[in-house]
Amino acid sequence: MLKIGLTGGIGSGKSTVAKVFEVLGIPVYYADDAAKQLMNAEGPLKQQIQKIFGATSYKNGQLDRKYVADIVFKKPEKLQLLNSLVHPATINDGQNWMKRQRSSYAIKEAALIFESGAQQQLDYVIGVYAPTSLRIQRTIQRDGVTEEEVMARINKQLDETSKMQLCDFVIINDEEQLLIPQVVELHKKISALTNKK
Ligand code: ATP
Repeated sequence: MLKIGLTGGIGSGKSTVAKVFEVLGIPVYYADDAAKQLMNAEGPLKQQIQKIFGATSYKNGQLDRKYVADIVFKKPEKLQLLNSLVHPATINDGQNWMKRQRSSYAIKEAALIFESGAQQQLDYVIGVYAPTSLRIQRTIQRDGVTEEEVMARINKQLDETSKMQLCDFVIINDEEQLLIPQVVELHKKISALTNKK
């Protein structure tokens, strides 16, 4: 079974594209959702996070995301430390999930595939590209945030052009080229690659 990564910057439309693959019968692992669940589950990851950020970082057993976000915003070294715990735990969980899939291929959707080194465990990576202005507009509308807040998040990610160059396939989600036919075409291409393996 081929293991496929699906990535793109904030607001590029990765989750939207992932849902189309799901409609085509392809299972998708959503890394951001999984990471949130893993941080709340009882286990070594939660204990390590509590060690770094203190017992007050959890309220009623759930990670206080705002509290932690405020700390890592001021102290980038703490963000690095947090990522160094969360990324390997999510990569490991994603690999276990992949092993349980019985389809011709399965997808891992994640914003930070290259940044976290997750591509090493994947056969191919799909990039979802959208122009920055559209990504800003979509995120403002979806999350009700300001342009400055979106820009701060964009500036923390690998720049879009470099990211797309690292991808094996690119889907253009610029609201000019039709999205669904591109996904169907790529599904056919990957299915053909699966048959070759
Ligand atoms: P994030 O990294 O922030 O999770 P994402 O890359 O997963 O973002 P989506 O959540 O899929 O992006 O898309 C961002 C917003 O833009 C959503 O509200 C989605 O419905 C909308 N959107 C994405 N693609 C399109 C499109 N082709 N046409 C219209 N709306 C779109």
